[in-house]
Amino acid sequence: MKTTKDVVVIGGGLAGLAAAAYLGRAGRSVALVEKAHAPGGRASTQESHGFSLNLGAHALYRGGAALEVLRELGVRYTGATPPTSGGLALDRGALHTLPSGALSLLTTGLLPLAAKIEMGRVFGGLAAANPAPLASVPVSTWLRDAFRAPEVRRLVGTLVRLSTYCADDDRQSAGAALAQVQHALGHGVLYLDGGWKTLVEGLRDAAVAAGVEILTGVRATQIAAEGGAVSAVELANGDRLGAGAVLVAASPRAAAALAPASTALAAHAERAVPIRAACLDVALSRLPRPRPLFVLGVDRPLYLSVHSGAARLAPGGGAVIHTAQYSPELAGRDAERELEDLLDRVQPGYRDALVERRFLPSLVVSNAVVPAEGGGYAARPGVRVPDLDGLFLAGDWVGPTGMLADASFASARDAAGAILSRRALDRAA
Ligand SMILES: Cc1cc2nc3c(=O)[nH]c(=O)nc-3n(C[C@H](O)[C@H](O)[C@H](O)COP(=O)(O)OP(=O)(O)OC[C@H]3O[C@@H](n4cnc5c(N)ncnc54)[C@H](O)[C@@H]3O)c2cc1C
Repeated sequence: MKTTKDVVVIGGGLAGLAAAAYLGRAGRSVALVEKAHAPGGRASTQESHGFSLNLGAHALYRGGAALEVLRELGVRYTGATPPTSGGLALDRGALHTLPSGALSLLTTGLLPLAAKIEMGRVFGGLAAANPAPLASVPVSTWLRDAFRAPEVRRLVGTLVRLSTYCADDDRQSAGAALAQVQHALGHGVLYLDGGWKTLVEGLRDAAVAAGVEILTGVRATQIAAEGGAVSAVELANGDRLGAGAVLVAASPRAAAALAPASTALAAHAERAVPIRAACLDVALSRLPRPRPLFVLGVDRPLYLSVHSGAARLAPGGGAVIHTAQYSPELAGRDAERELEDLLDRVQPGYRDALVERRFLPSLVVSNAVVPAEGGGYAARPGVRVPDLDGLFLAGDWVGPTGMLADASFASARDAAGAILSRRALDRAA
């Protein structure tokens, strides 16, 4: 392998793979290094006994940057939108119809009449609300000031958790949260056949076809610089890859550790507060009950969804259920117990049909809450690291666009564009 590349990408998740594919297509020589034995990062899917288990519940938001990038790179996938009706809300120990439209709002026992009337207006008004003035307002303040009935506040808070994965209402920007709720309600989501590994494989194939060299099981240890510009990436196996530019598509802490000379990266690593979830994922030989397929906790930060109800993830008759407790560090109750209780309640007898069970107590869903302090998306770093020439970033904590995988894909595309527009690199090419 040529040991000097136009670009070295560190991290082989969705962001690194997508950026590498764009750069390779534009004719740049690219190496991507991934410390795990296979690319994928948090979009990996575990295959077991014919079941496909994503790393916790994953839903691909329609109508956002992720779908645009996948289309541009020719990545193919299939899947289906889970139904929005027929879900249940768990509130103070009781299961109620989850309001999703006029009829379910009318019939649910979740809300008293006055709250139903207000919620009807909220459903009608949320789509048109302007998120911009709320950028610096915490979700908790917005919920208190914008909604009258406590039941409505709690239900809107539940929608925020569902769409953003974040239960830290005192920290999260209401503007960013509202925009994400609008995105989710407006376009819906897809559960993917075969899981998110189909995206990883499609992106890997696109990158390889574009000439990208993917090195797995290789950890980057340091980004070397000369004269204020990046020059090489040092690897844990002792190798060194010369680089005209380096793109870090990993966490803020990983980026800061790779380039300790950058005070900008150190500051972002210091400020970033990850969004975490505790996930109990189960594969079942049969689904004890055909309904409900979807349950949301209202007074508790809980989620349950039968992903195999919409996507092909299980062999004939089997089922894959993802459950989650949002922000377990704030939830104040043992996550594994609470999620088991939820499964027992909704799918009694599920233990007799267990084929696979995986509890992950603290997954990083997103590397950084979009904070009210600092103005929402304005607080995120851009794709270009200001104090080290030739160093770029991508990931779900980078750039002004969207949350979760949408942010990873949008920043990957922007970072590739910024690298391609560097004059020095253009001259060298
Ligand atoms: C439980 C859960 C649920 C989620 N649900 C959704 C959802 O419903 N919708 C949605 O859009 N998104 C969801 N996400 C988020 C989505 O999975 C991520 O946004 C996306 O996968 C992040 O991709 P990435 O490439 O930015 O980062 P990562 O996937 O974290 O990739 C970073 C990669 O860098 C590698 N790396 C780190 N340091 C080094 C180093 N020094 N050298 C070499 N390699 C290194 C890591 O091994 C990793 O593979 C969810 C995530 C979780 C965990």
